[in-house]
Amino acid sequence: MGETEEEKDQAGKLFENFIQASTCKGTLQSFNLLCRLLDLDPQDHETFYCSLKTRLTSWRAKALWTKLDKRTCHKEYKKGQACVGTKCLIIGGGPCGLRTAIELALLGAKVVVIEKRDTFSRNNVLHLWPYTIHDLKGLGAKKFYGKFCAGAIDHISIRQLQLMLLKIALLVAVEFHVNVEFVKLLEPPENQENDGPGWRAEIRPADHPVANIDFDVVVGADGRRNTLEGFKRKEFRGKLAIAITANFVNRNTTAEAKVEEISGVAFIFNQKFFLDLKEETGIDLENIVYYKDNTHYFVMTAKKQSLLDKGVIIHDYIDTEMLLSSENVNQEALLGYAREAADFGTNYQLPTLDFAINACGQPDVAMFDFTSMYASENAALVRERFGHQLLVALVGDSLLEPFWPMGTGCARGFLAAFDSAWMVKRWAEGRTPLEVLAERESLYRILPQTTTENIGKNFEQYTIDPGTRYPNLISTCVRQNQVRHLYINGELP
Ligand code: FAD
Repeated sequence: MGETEEEKDQAGKLFENFIQASTCKGTLQSFNLLCRLLDLDPQDHETFYCSLKTRLTSWRAKALWTKLDKRTCHKEYKKGQACVGTKCLIIGGGPCGLRTAIELALLGAKVVVIEKRDTFSRNNVLHLWPYTIHDLKGLGAKKFYGKFCAGAIDHISIRQLQLMLLKIALLVAVEFHVNVEFVKLLEPPENQENDGPGWRAEIRPADHPVANIDFDVVVGADGRRNTLEGFKRKEFRGKLAIAITANFVNRNTTAEAKVEEISGVAFIFNQKFFLDLKEETGIDLENIVYYKDNTHYFVMTAKKQSLLDKGVIIHDYIDTEMLLSSENVNQEALLGYAREAADFGTNYQLPTLDFAINACGQPDVAMFDFTSMYASENAALVRERFGHQLLVALVGDSLLEPFWPMGTGCARGFLAAFDSAWMVKRWAEGRTPLEVLAERESLYRILPQTTTENIGKNFEQYTIDPGTRYPNLISTCVRQNQVRHLYINGELP
């Protein structure tokens, strides 16, 4: 390419900064600098990855290209031609939004992610299923984060996971915009000429360039408070469940390294542990998890009476929202409760239990109500207005909320990301809306039943093709006449 050694050196250094960047902003900045130096435009999504590859030839870069090339070879992507011309908007840059974005980009679609925040600050740790670890390693996870799932470790902080997925997404030419909030869908105007606007998104700030893009596909990946219309939510109401998450500073000392993790103990499996805890501290738990990651992370389900007895909850209300409202929680007592449980759970072996600080500058402890969990009734729908069709889908927590202590969020979230990418591929092939929707809803029926045991064991074979992941798959269990209501030809509500 006629580059001087000096230019190559500089590009190598900028690439290294990008790989090492430890914040969302830092990643975006180093990526922009790199593109500017190489005079490459990530908006040329069809050629960007290949151009970047030929320009970055350090051994570290090459090692990453080898990994990513193996992925891009999946036959489902048709060499990046499967979804050429399809424009996708993803709402939310959490792990599931980013994972979906990567798959759609590999299919050759133009992908735009909007994220309302500009920091990745969640210390909380996600449990990963073996297939997810395999999947992420296949995308070069270890090149971005050397400590990724070393040895028997099967977890990662949400922050690290987002960071790694963002870097991969940028390399495959996903457009990522921070501080942009989705407000609602805008339907195409009536009586327009052929080249008038199609389906667009109302966003904040309103003058952001994303507001002027027409989309063929919109994916809601904005977490449990999904903002897209048309998805009724089913509620699963269990008995009162109050979870506490707590993060403590990990100074990576030898003493800390020796402390054993608790990969999930529930009362029924170790009654003595919980009875001893109660007797010694008054803390009454149903389960507890401890992961040693960037922080010492604990998640536990606490019984209401013990929270009342220990002064964490001030008044007993039947209404859970009132019960856990900030006015009814003694923050100091909550910190004490979490610290005491963590101390007992680790047999008092963690030398210091200083709270990590969260995005708001406060000790990173939170209490959540898990009594109700939500799942969307359907995974996708098609809107049609004045001749323009829009495929709308949900992934991640928006689709199916996980029970955190079980850590199914990411595992099922990624499966839904693959299933959605498969649906977009079908859509781009020109299948009818009802065909596409019936297949998607059939796959969605499987999702809540998935476990580490009943999904395909040959992770090497996993692709976005559902048949590679779900054994004995019948992808026609939902019939086209059962999804007619999801093909909506009319005004937005
Ligand atoms: P999320 O990770 O929730 O990401 C959604 C993204 O969308 C966010 O970045 C958000 O800023 C963005 N967004 C929201 N609305 C808009 C909008 N209108 N426009 C643009 N962007 C928007 N799981 C566990 O297993 N253990 C835990 O301890 C745990 N703790 C959690 C703590 C919190 C506070 C939250 C929110 C979730 C937690 N989870 C936990 C769940 C876990 O984070 C998710 O299962 C996992 O991150 C996958 O989620 P996701 O990508 O679907 O959504």
